[in-house]
Amino acid sequence: MTSPIKHHRDALANPFLGCLREFRSALADWFLENGRDLPWRTEPPRDPYGVLVSEMMLQQTQVATVIAYFRRWMERFPDVRALAAAPENDVLHAWQGLGYYSRARNLHAAARALVRENGGVFPREVEALRALPGIGPYTAAAIATFAFDEPVPPVDANIIRVTARLLDFRKPADDAAGGLALRSAAQAWQPCLEEGGAGLFNEALMELGALVCTPRAPRCHDCPVRLFCQAEEPETLPLKRPRPKTVEMEEHCGWIVQEGRVLLEQQTGKRWRGLWRLPLLTEPHSGQPLASLYYPFTHHRVHLCVFPGTTPLFLAENQRWFTLAELEAAPMPAPHRRALQKLLAEDNG
Ligand code: SF4
Repeated sequence: MTSPIKHHRDALANPFLGCLREFRSALADWFLENGRDLPWRTEPPRDPYGVLVSEMMLQQTQVATVIAYFRRWMERFPDVRALAAAPENDVLHAWQGLGYYSRARNLHAAARALVRENGGVFPREVEALRALPGIGPYTAAAIATFAFDEPVPPVDANIIRVTARLLDFRKPADDAAGGLALRSAAQAWQPCLEEGGAGLFNEALMELGALVCTPRAPRCHDCPVRLFCQAEEPETLPLKRPRPKTVEMEEHCGWIVQEGRVLLEQQTGKRWRGLWRLPLLTEPHSGQPLASLYYPFTHHRVHLCVFPGTTPLFLAENQRWFTLAELEAAPMPAPHRRALQKLLAEDNG
């Protein structure tokens, strides 16, 4: 005869075994008791605009950092119409410090498309949400499930990790086949629309990954779904493909000051488009830079070095002088803002 624990464990790999309700309700009970009180869950309670803003911010940024940004953002752009009506410069400025500015541009473009094409009303279906600019499968699923209770899992790193461990999935989770298998499992665990509770279930699954089933030291003894879990060595999961090596890069910029004003140039390429940065030097420099710092970019480690620059005879189209007061308000990539602050502090020191 099959033991009850084995039966529970097999239930997730085979959702037809009939323990899914118990699994979902153990998770939901735990979440209602232990879930964090985060502003995008309660201020306002799960409206699609709040979900969109918070999910865009959370894509590359820690929860603790996002909390203050989210509150400031919602004061500045309280609804989708306010965001759609704002100039791009204001949007980029409010995003400053969060990095990966394409997220801010996508958020802005999505708000404008919603107002222009749908009277500012969010659709609830994943496919319609995905048609909005910059909204990928994850964000579309997050809006659909958290705001509208649709049974679609927003598959992020937490859901991948928890799902891989619950199933003791011992193939790479970050290739197409592994991703599909884990997504399909998370989909099969959803309650149906009539049953309701999919939003709560998905939020609980993600929260379990954030608080209990953490990457390095999962707290299996405190886990509300340990009876269902098949992982033997959870800290080794999910498995990943070998990573590409980190590539070192140098970025040389100029510190050019004239009559108390600083020369910046506006980025036109894909990365940091529209942001103001220290002007790139066309020739690589050597010697001691005035300021130097490192920052990561995808699989690169970039060494940003700022050298004294020469005032150009003519400014390029994307260059302009900034007074100290204007520098404060200029949207800048975080590494360039840090270098600028160092240089200004040294100039005043
Ligand atoms: S029992 Fe451990 S590995 Fe399994 S889901 Fe819970 S915390 Fe994660």
